[in-house]
Parts: sequence; structure tokens; C-alpha cells
Amino acid sequence: MSNKLTPQTIVPFLADIFERRGGEEYLGEPVTMAEHMLQGAALAERGGMSERIIVAALLHDIGHFTSEFGTYHPDDTHDRHHEEAGAEVLEEFFPTVVTDCVRYHVAAKRYLCATKPEYFKRLSTASVHSLNLQGGPMSAGEVAEFERNPNLEEIVQVRYLDDAGKHADMETPGFSHFAPMVQRVVDAHCGVH
Ligand code: FE
Repeated sequence: MSNKLTPQTIVPFLADIFERRGGEEYLGEPVTMAEHMLQGAALAERGGMSERIIVAALLHDIGHFTSEFGTYHPDDTHDRHHEEAGAEVLEEFFPTVVTDCVRYHVAAKRYLCATKPEYFKRLSTASVHSLNLQGGPMSAGEVAEFERNPNLEEIVQVRYLDDAGKHADMETPGFSHFAPMVQRVVDAHCGVH
């Protein structure tokens, strides 16, 4: 259960989820869930992005595994707001900029589809399909509200990493490579020195 996790156990707990569950299919894409998230994190690291961005990319889809945190509800459907569920399980240990990137990674797709015409053309077939299920491009009012988020820039960056992390044949380091970085972000947030 998430309420038994501590700043000392959250990172090994996440590593274990990657280890045991990471091989699951990322629906409609040529990568597993772990490959998808590791690719986003590796691309962020190669791009010299901040550790908080790298960590957010690494964990953005952790909400697909919330049953691991004991927050599963039997009436959940498969992809019921995995972004909200993921942010909720992380928010005890991670700063708002990270949890906002997780919480709004689906909204960011709807935002970019509404504001950047060239963005839509780059989406994978599976991502266009889910866009329709997720409500389609944002309305002007939704765009204006979304742009009020102080973490907008980071949210959009992680969305691009999400879209980029779908290569069938990309080599990345494993979770263990990123674990010390994840721990640093947790420690900074939780005041552990
Ligand atoms: Fe994703």
C-alpha cells in the first residue's frame, strides 16, 4: 500500500514494478511499457534536460500499474485516467513539477493538437485513436486554462518525450541507471539529506 512506502523504499518499489510489470504491452505501440518510459527518460538525458524532466518522463505512465500501490478499484476500466492515478501515487514523494507532468501528459496531447497543427500529424495511429477517446483537441477555453499552469513548459517537454519514446529498436539503460537520479529528486522533495 502506498501509505507504507517511505522516501527510502519508493525507488526500490518503482524499480520492482519496472522489473516485474515492465514487459507488458504498451497498447498499439511497438514497445513494452518499460521500454517506452525508459526511452523517454534516455532521450531527456541525452538532450541534457533537468533531472526532474528525466524522472517525470521515466514515471509518466506509472499509473498503468496503480494496482501495485493498493489504490486499484474493481470498477476501474483499463485506462481509466491512468495519468491522474499515477500522479496521485507519486505526489507524496515527488515535487509538483514532476506530478504535473504525469497528471497532464494526456491533457498536453489535447493541448498541442489544439495549438500546434503540425503536432497532430506526428502522432502515432494508436495515439490518434486514444485522442478521440480522451476528448479530442482542447477548446479555446481549455487551452487558456491549461496555459495558466506554471509547469506548462515541463509538461509539454514530457509530452514530446512520451511521443518520442516509441521506437521498436532503441537501446536504453535500464531503470537502475536512473534510480540514483530518482532518489535525488525524492530526497530533495522529502527533505532527506
Ligand atoms: Fe506514455
